[in-house]
Amino acid sequence: MIVTAETKLAGVIGWPVAHSLSPRLHGFWLEKYRIDGLYLPLGVPPEHFGTALRMFAVMGFRGVNVTLPHKEAALRAVDEASAFARRVGAVNTVIVREDGSLFGDNSDAYGFLENLKVQAPAWRAQGAPAVVLGGGGAARAVAAALVDTSAVEVRLVNRTRARAEAIAQDLDGPVRVVPWAGRAKALEGAGLLVNATSLGMSGQPPLEIALDVLPSDAVVNDLVYSPLETPLLAAARARGLAAVDGLGMLLHQARLGFAAWYGVEPEVSAEQRAFVLG
Ligand code: NAP
Repeated sequence: MIVTAETKLAGVIGWPVAHSLSPRLHGFWLEKYRIDGLYLPLGVPPEHFGTALRMFAVMGFRGVNVTLPHKEAALRAVDEASAFARRVGAVNTVIVREDGSLFGDNSDAYGFLENLKVQAPAWRAQGAPAVVLGGGGAARAVAAALVDTSAVEVRLVNRTRARAEAIAQDLDGPVRVVPWAGRAKALEGAGLLVNATSLGMSGQPPLEIALDVLPSDAVVNDLVYSPLETPLLAAARARGLAAVDGLGMLLHQARLGFAAWYGVEPEVSAEQRAFVLG
């Protein structure tokens, strides 16, 4: 392709960044919608993050996605952040505004809910309690999304209880903290189980949890997408439960940035999923 001064530039800042699927998923959309644009992997170590973020704006980038370990630093670095990003305490999408200032948003909750709408259309937040495992940024975004969609109850279970307590306090909703040892029992009567820990990821220990007491109409959503079929999802399928993988959330959360930078509302499709998994 030929790059000109008109080419719309965006990318993902992370450290390391080589593992990120974002260049592939945005690249798919750029080709599909025949956009004169580039989406680049931008490996930036933490000590240079603030400077690099400003420089990309100066160099004409329309914005960037922010991934590990920079999401909290991005909240501090932008000129303005959405109310939701402030609530979650992290920014994963930065938009360079006309005047060159940086606006930060967090699209993880949007991606999580949009993906469930497609992959588990019968699920309703108001139907039965949700169990969220984790206490990091992903768990915070998911718990906030559930509270904002009027969930009856969110049972938040994290190894480090204090992190779950802090989320419950910040969210000011029906969030109940459950000890890590009580995670299997917390599934009683639940309509949704979300794994927002890094357990089950390639190179990490598996998530150990018995799904026996989950009702038969419950949905199991693993946010881990590497591997795509985690032992948790395999166990859910073996029990005949609806199993939702983490790639869908990743694809849906990307829509917000793509629309802002390239001016097209993109659609998530089976073709794109296959391409990203390539
Ligand atoms: P994070 O802030 O590093 O949080 C990691 C979480 O995993 C913490 O709750 C941590 O518990 C828990 N954990 C780690 N090792 C554990 C162990 N041995 N036993 C029990 N708990 C353990 O990460 P994050 O950003 O929230 O991401 C969490 C997961 O979600 C990752 O797998 C990430 O890839 C995935 N994710 C997916 C998407 C998507 O679009 N699909 C988006 C964001 C994140 P402690 O608090 O006790 O340390």
